[in-house]
Amino acid sequence: MSTAREMGLVTCTACARVWPAGTPECGRCGHRLQSRHAGSLQMVWAFWLTGLLCYIPANIYPMLVTSTLVSTEANTIVGGAVEIARHGEIAIAAIVLIASVIIPVAKFIAIAYLAVSVQRGRVHGAHGKMHLYEIVEFIGRWSMIDVFVVAILSALVQLSVVASIHPGSAALTFALSVIFTMLSARSFDTRLIWDAHVPHGQTAAPLPPSPGTE
Ligand SMILES: [Zn+2]
Repeated sequence: MSTAREMGLVTCTACARVWPAGTPECGRCGHRLQSRHAGSLQMVWAFWLTGLLCYIPANIYPMLVTSTLVSTEANTIVGGAVEIARHGEIAIAAIVLIASVIIPVAKFIAIAYLAVSVQRGRVHGAHGKMHLYEIVEFIGRWSMIDVFVVAILSALVQLSVVASIHPGSAALTFALSVIFTMLSARSFDTRLIWDAHVPHGQTAAPLPPSPGTE
């Protein structure tokens, strides 16, 4: 299997038209052409770390603030899920836990795993890693489901006059964490997987220098 770079070609990442290597910009849509995104891994790690730093306060500070006439109760993500489960809403508690703990942690691990394996320069099972990347990208847009759960819960509880629920400060840092992990995943140039790809039973060959590289 040969890559576009080995054949002296470069793909437009915006419209997928293929051009000869060294073409500065896409003649069809005007997008700047790069055989490989130069600072891809640096951006991936920068956004990844920022996302992780936002995720820590998202778990420490309250996600839900419940006020009644006599008391105010603040719940973190996990505490809120436990509280919801105690009220018998096991399904909603499970959605909150999956959306706000399991999926974000799995995303941090998956992105780090992809970046580290590319940095080590030897990727085995490139197809599997492409699938992993596609899953991370696909899940990204559904990560905000937790914020929707807060919105729905608030709406439900507002109906009763005795208690009111407001999103706590963790809702903001959680949203920021989701945004930064999405940016991190988007910064990842998947073509790097194929550069480091080691076919079965072969040793890694050094990359040929390409005129399209910046
Ligand atoms: Zn184009």
